Amino acid sequence: MSHKKFATLAVAALLIVVVAWFGHVTNQEVGGIVQQQFTQQQLLLTRQAAVGIEGFLDEKTVLIEVLAADASDTSPEGMARSFIPIYYRSRGFFAIQFINSTGVVVSGYPPEDAPIGFDLYAENKNQAFDLAKDRRETYTTDPTPLFEGGLGSYVWVPVYDDNEFKGTILAIVRVSSLSERFLIDVMPEEHGYMYMIDYSGRSLYDGAHKEMIGAKYVGSFCTNNSSYAEILSEQMQKKEGTGYYFDESSGEWRIVAYTPVVWRNRVWSVATSVPASDVDALVHSVYRKQILFIAIVIVIILAGSGSIVHIFSRWNRELENEVERTTEDLKKSNTELESANTRLTELDRLKSEFVSIASHELKTPLTSIKLSMDVLRSLSGSEKDIRTRDELFGIVDRNIGRQSRLVNDLLDISRIETGTLKFNLEHVDLYDIIRESVRSMRDIAEEKGISVHTDLEGETLAITGDRDQLVQVFVNLIGNALKFTEKGEIRIQVRMVAGHPEIRVSDTGIGIPPDELDRIFDKFHQVDSGLTREVGGSGLGLAICRGIIEGHGGSIRAESEVGRGSTFVIVL
Ligand code: ADP
Repeated sequence: MSHKKFATLAVAALLIVVVAWFGHVTNQEVGGIVQQQFTQQQLLLTRQAAVGIEGFLDEKTVLIEVLAADASDTSPEGMARSFIPIYYRSRGFFAIQFINSTGVVVSGYPPEDAPIGFDLYAENKNQAFDLAKDRRETYTTDPTPLFEGGLGSYVWVPVYDDNEFKGTILAIVRVSSLSERFLIDVMPEEHGYMYMIDYSGRSLYDGAHKEMIGAKYVGSFCTNNSSYAEILSEQMQKKEGTGYYFDESSGEWRIVAYTPVVWRNRVWSVATSVPASDVDALVHSVYRKQILFIAIVIVIILAGSGSIVHIFSRWNRELENEVERTTEDLKKSNTELESANTRLTELDRLKSEFVSIASHELKTPLTSIKLSMDVLRSLSGSEKDIRTRDELFGIVDRNIGRQSRLVNDLLDISRIETGTLKFNLEHVDLYDIIRESVRSMRDIAEEKGISVHTDLEGETLAITGDRDQLVQVFVNLIGNALKFTEKGEIRIQVRMVAGHPEIRVSDTGIGIPPDELDRIFDKFHQVDSGLTREVGGSGLGLAICRGIIEGHGGSIRAESEVGRGSTFVIVL
């Protein structure tokens, strides 16, 4: 893996860890907040219920107190009558009774629930009666079981006429009328219930455990030092708050929120109990959403870093390819430079060689001419001298020819190289050109005892070309063949190959080594051999041939086997 890829993946991994860690911390915080919100909500419910119950009980108590204030001189019968509208208007009373100053029930409503003649002192039930009487204020009791079932709370209101104690109004308030109004149906059954306890920890109402009503939770519903007992003890201490407890009967944790209910000298406590799984479910639902969010963020990070890695590696690849290409190009130009350099060195060497050859080639005829001129000047008019003079003129003539050929060759090669060689193109007969070339070389061939054969297809072969230049090419090739052949023959063959005339000039001479086959067409190049030195030459002939043939749009190459001969192949 490349460094860039590794670095990108490492950054991505780091980002994922950071996002996951933040997610975890946020989850915990959100979990805490949700839990807090939830318990606060429960607490609000209990407060609502407590306020309702307190208002309800206060209303009842005040009604009775108002009645008691006005009833100082009312007869027991009249008292019972005044109970009727209160009983019906303010629902929730079990019964309202009037007990005279001696502690005997004298009237009440409804009549069937008024135990007329019941003597509190005789039955030893005078405790609350006495307290109300002595304190001269309303005294309320914790709910106790009622005769026909359920719980009822007793409200003792003393009746005084100035300082004369007339008796007590006793109103019994049903606890069920409280629970029906304020505790039942406050919350959906499957999500918890409400309950209410009195100061001593007895159940006044329990939405889920009806059998507990009237009994104490501690000892029956839970053990003394259980988590629930602790909550109950807080409730009995008139505190408001929330707590967790483990419910042994259902085997689950529950959350309790509780608020005290204050009614005169009584303090009860109302509470909600909901399964902790409810808040867990809430928290989990938040968790799930957050985890989904984190997962999406991680996927985005991964996808992002994946793309970055992809882009980086693509750039990398492109860069590598570019570098590779450039290196390749550099190598190529290097090789080209090297070979150009080699060629230049070779050219330089050839040029030096040429300078010495050319000087020699130029000087030799000059020397001959000079010598001949000196001899010519000393000749007399004798017959012998006349013969000598003719020979000397012949020598001068040949040397001038030799020198002018060399100068012409030099001019030709210079024109070829500068692209100024003119081609006088016309319709010509190739065979004619070949025959003329052979003819002009016949004397030399005969001198060397070498026969020149032509092998031509048909009588004529019309082509477009520069007659003189083509003659120069064939004369050059035949001349070379004669120069480098000791014995044997020279053959000129013409064939049509793929619609083009192919001319093969072959000899049976010394041949050319394979590595020289291409180079002999370079100017000044001569194969380094004794014979080459012996026969002389400028190394320009073949270069001129190639220039002329290529100028005609053709090609020239050499084939050879050392010691057996060479063939120059021209395709026009
Ligand atoms: P030169 O004037 O030296 O002959 P050319 O360019 O005509 O120059 O030839 C170049 C060299 O090619 C010659 O010096 C010779 O070494 C070689 N060469 C050319 N033709 C032949 C041939 N027919 N047989 C052998 N070698 C040849």
